Amino acid sequence: MTFCETKKILEPLLFEKSVPGRTGWQLPANDCPAINPEKIMPANLVRQEIGPFPEMSEPEIARHYVRLSSYNYSIDKGLYPLGSCTMKYNPKINELVSRLPGFCTTHPLQDEDDVQGNLQLMWELEHYLAEIAGLDRVTLQPAAGAHGELTGMMMIKAYHLDRQEDRKTVLVPDSAHGTNPATSSLCGFSVKVVPSDERGLINPATLAQMMSPDVAAIMITNPNTLGLFEKDISKITEIVHAQGGLVYCDGANMNALLGKARPGDMGVDVLHFNLHKTFSTPHGGGGPGGGPVAIRNSLAPFLPVPIIEKTTQNTFRLSHENARSIGKVSTFFGNFGVLVKAYAYIRQLGPEGLKRASEMAVLNANYVRQTLKPDFHIPYDTLCKHECIFNDTIQQEHGISTLDIAKRLIDYGFHPPTIYFPLIVKGAMMIEPTETESPETLDHFVNTMKIIARESIEQPDLVKSAPHCAPLRRLDEVLAAKQQLLRFKSE
Ligand SMILES: *Cc1c(COP(=O)(O)O)cnc(C)c1O
Repeated sequence: MTFCETKKILEPLLFEKSVPGRTGWQLPANDCPAINPEKIMPANLVRQEIGPFPEMSEPEIARHYVRLSSYNYSIDKGLYPLGSCTMKYNPKINELVSRLPGFCTTHPLQDEDDVQGNLQLMWELEHYLAEIAGLDRVTLQPAAGAHGELTGMMMIKAYHLDRQEDRKTVLVPDSAHGTNPATSSLCGFSVKVVPSDERGLINPATLAQMMSPDVAAIMITNPNTLGLFEKDISKITEIVHAQGGLVYCDGANMNALLGKARPGDMGVDVLHFNLHKTFSTPHGGGGPGGGPVAIRNSLAPFLPVPIIEKTTQNTFRLSHENARSIGKVSTFFGNFGVLVKAYAYIRQLGPEGLKRASEMAVLNANYVRQTLKPDFHIPYDTLCKHECIFNDTIQQEHGISTLDIAKRLIDYGFHPPTIYFPLIVKGAMMIEPTETESPETLDHFVNTMKIIARESIEQPDLVKSAPHCAPLRRLDEVLAAKQQLLRFKSE
């Protein structure tokens, strides 16, 4: 029996720890007059089936939850190389800043006069993001990347309909994130897939053949999800514009471009940001995010309301007048705390710092690509941007798959990279180290990957049966996601 297996046997489940009559609390005697419970709540609304609850002392319950929390992997524990997710370390001071009472205790329905500072912060953040994107206007309302996509594509749809053009098609490359085709469908478009060429890029000749006056937009990602810069981007945007289509850019990969290149300058018309990737909001647990959308002036009439305006007296107000607006996409103004963190991050780094962040993100990805090259196959072997892609071609000769490698990484204390995405790479391992990792951490990761490559040849069974040191072994991930047990059950 391994050490890990011994440890597991020694950890009983919550209900196995329960002892009848044992409690972790004490209440004073009830001195309220007896009330008929039905007067407070009709009997049919009172749940009968809750409980039984485990009966435990306070130290036992504290230890139970602290132990569970130690099963979580987080960026504060170690490298989190999940490609396309930008799991970077975010400065803790930005958390503090977003919790300053003036920010976190304001109510969205307070008078504009009361919240001038908040409005100014949002107004300035809009302008910073517009500058970074190379576009004219920004809405901060969307709460996530996919929400930003929806907002952007709704504006594109409104733009065409306003011009009496009922365009039905959206082009999406085969390397795109799944949210891109999903967003297009949700907006009522039909999706046509643009195949990547042997470079892993969009080929202008192929695109030209697919382009027609029925195409409302192309949704591109640049650098794409292979971590490669679309070299023909100017030609691509030209081909789409020539037939009246618009260019949407998925900006989740802005970590590769900050201060170096602007999508607007490449001909992009609409771009969403992922504040919870690039701009200092931690993510991974489904917490609050931000997906602001930057647009060209031609789309401004369709911006969601309210719009933050600066008056001639240098005060700020919320305008609800935008006659052709797509409406509201958020209850109020977006996740304000996330906006504060993005603002603080941009102000801390400044233009030079942002540029340096991108340079380091790209350098780190290329370092991993180059150092792992002798051990893992690289499907598109050229300089990459913020992420690099390997697959399991070499390891397959020994019966080892990408999933096995990912599971074995867990034994060594690392979060696995993104696997089996993008779909066009068989057995893909997509590694995004981000700019916040030290050379020592990268070397540790690379050396671990090299150990696993050697184990795949010398001890394939060890890799195939990994993880050996995780609280649970291989789970049915689909079932685990679809049938979550979110509350205690005694069985
Ligand atoms: C993360 C990501 C998205 C979706 O962002 P969410 O905030 O998770 O909705 C879209 N496209 C790409 C390329 C991404 O990496």
